Amino acid sequence: MQKPILLSPPHLGDDELKFVHEAFAANWIAPVGPHVDAFEAEFCERVGCGHAAAVSSGTAALHLALRLVGIEAGDEVLCSTLTFIATANPITYLGAKPVFVDSDRHSWNMDPHLLQEALEARARQGKLPKAVVLVHLYGQSADIEPILKACETYDIPLVEDAAEALGATYQGRSPGTWGRVGIYSFNGNKIITTSGGGMLVSDDSELVAKARFLATQARDPAPHYQHSEVGYNYRLSNVLAGIGRGQLRVLSDRIAARRRNFEIYHQALSTIPGIEFMPEAAYGTATRWLTCLTIDPTAFGKDREEVRLALAEQQIEARPAWKPLHLQPVFADCDCVGGAVSEDIFKRGLCLPSGSSMTDDDLQRVIEAIVAVHRR
Ligand SMILES: *Cc1c(COP(=O)(O)O)cnc(C)c1O
Repeated sequence: MQKPILLSPPHLGDDELKFVHEAFAANWIAPVGPHVDAFEAEFCERVGCGHAAAVSSGTAALHLALRLVGIEAGDEVLCSTLTFIATANPITYLGAKPVFVDSDRHSWNMDPHLLQEALEARARQGKLPKAVVLVHLYGQSADIEPILKACETYDIPLVEDAAEALGATYQGRSPGTWGRVGIYSFNGNKIITTSGGGMLVSDDSELVAKARFLATQARDPAPHYQHSEVGYNYRLSNVLAGIGRGQLRVLSDRIAARRRNFEIYHQALSTIPGIEFMPEAAYGTATRWLTCLTIDPTAFGKDREEVRLALAEQQIEARPAWKPLHLQPVFADCDCVGGAVSEDIFKRGLCLPSGSSMTDDDLQRVIEAIVAVHRR
């Protein structure tokens, strides 16, 4: 049996275990602790934001973010449709309702024109949403500036889901740091991982302090246990923050490795009829967290699923692009502004193995398998 090639497995560096040992030696096996403080400070420095709160997952960070911008039961929140379900679940946790917005073709992220039109239409009807959740997909920033401008026009907070885009740039700055609040994820398949974890960032120190408060069961400053609000148990463990500190030190290497994977795939496959890679928008640099492409079955001779299954037969893990959230059964009663672009990307899109520890042999195995399906 051949060695499995996974989509995006964890890739540890040299320092993670040292930091974990430190946590053990000091008996800081708790949520909060010196690694958590240091991880937050080092993360702020890396992405260029004012303040950060380390939490147990990206989903937890989004839940806090939405609560902190004031989302309540019955509110509407505009949200990218082409994304992982974790982007929209926290909207539902708060009893609010997502309204989805389609992607554009050149970034695969939220189409700024559609958002602008949707906000204009809703302003005329007097029912503006309470927030916009903007996703930066597959390591590429959305076109933030026009989206931020549209939000500012109507005084709507922008929440950025940069779970997949740590290390990317937009006009030289990190996606996730432009809106009122942003979040990142350190789940096992992300560009860096703490096995599970997330970060909430904002330039508003009060907002981040409130996030920490809510993430630790909203405990009032009293010697006894007193609570005036409902909170959550969402803080990151000091042990996992130690892993995060080590991972942050190799982030630039991980980006370089993933971009290199993309270059090798692109060089070998882009001339095959029917294959088109996810474009890199001119306004920034993508990390190529995942190398994604679309397959036109007429030109290529096989469809996306045939290619995916042929790869699976050879122990190569590839995945379809995200199924748009407006097509998810759980959101069947939610509206979508547009939808054709994300539906097409879902129908034809495939994410190739993209781990930063892939060898040249691994990459060649994937390439040869795809070429073989095309010839078959
Ligand atoms: C991974 C991911 C999340 C959630 O992060 P977790 O840490 O797994 O909770 C949210 N949004 C997107 C787009 C993601 O890819």
